[in-house]
Amino acid sequence: MSTGTQDANGTTLKQRYDDVKSRIAAAARRAGRRPEDVMLVVVSKSGSVEQIRELMQMGQVDFAENRVQQLLQRVAQVDEWRARRAELGGSAPAVRWHMIGTMQRNKVKKAVEAVRLIHSVDSLRLAEEIQVAAAKRESPVEVLVEVNVSGEGSKHGVAPGAARHLVAQIETMVNVRARGLMCMAPLEGGVAAARPTFERCRELYEDIRQTGVGGERFNVLSMGMSADYEVAVECGANLVRVGGAVIGPPQVSEEPDEA
Ligand SMILES: *Cc1c(COP(=O)(O)O)cnc(C)c1O
Repeated sequence: MSTGTQDANGTTLKQRYDDVKSRIAAAARRAGRRPEDVMLVVVSKSGSVEQIRELMQMGQVDFAENRVQQLLQRVAQVDEWRARRAELGGSAPAVRWHMIGTMQRNKVKKAVEAVRLIHSVDSLRLAEEIQVAAAKRESPVEVLVEVNVSGEGSKHGVAPGAARHLVAQIETMVNVRARGLMCMAPLEGGVAAARPTFERCRELYEDIRQTGVGGERFNVLSMGMSADYEVAVECGANLVRVGGAVIGPPQVSEEPDEA
């Protein structure tokens, strides 16, 4: 589907992208912050590679996937496209990849090579595996600690009370750096349930910052998806992960990674 093509709901990719960006900017202003202080990460998991390329040409740099396999596939496809453009004398737009889903142990190594930020670190064991996998890298792997603020059993993430300790443990690792926290709103309850969750996560984030345990670079608060990113920005998110609101109807099916 190309930029100018309308989806079933009558909007184009560009219209949706521009709309999300202006809503983020408005939410930031409502919260007394600058629009440029909130980073939009487009979650491309249900989008096509063509949409990713089109968004890159609109200036979007940060993309997220939740399955390692699809992430690696897309990194390769996009890199090939960038190389081809460069060969033809065009400029190759920048791209940065984020991992936002659960990672199986056997896929950590490959993921680590491809991503700028891993949002989904929720155990010491996973952090240790990243540490080992990153041994050969020149710079540390940057991660967020995923917090299960709402306490839902089905969700990943550490308990709020354990987040600070995990950050401290990560800070002892040479090849991993804790950059902040990530959380998700409860599955049920809509925006009304999202707000207190985001507020709680913001408080936790500020508490950890105040202790200084993550250092100066502990400065990322990743929260908010298509249904609740405006609320998240109002509550202090400086990174939002938006999929469907930009991508539109799913272009690829989401099958779970095989183990
Ligand atoms: C899929 C996903 C998103 C984006 O969800 P949308 O509702 O499509 O915006 C954000 N964060 C995580 C962790 C996800 O898995």
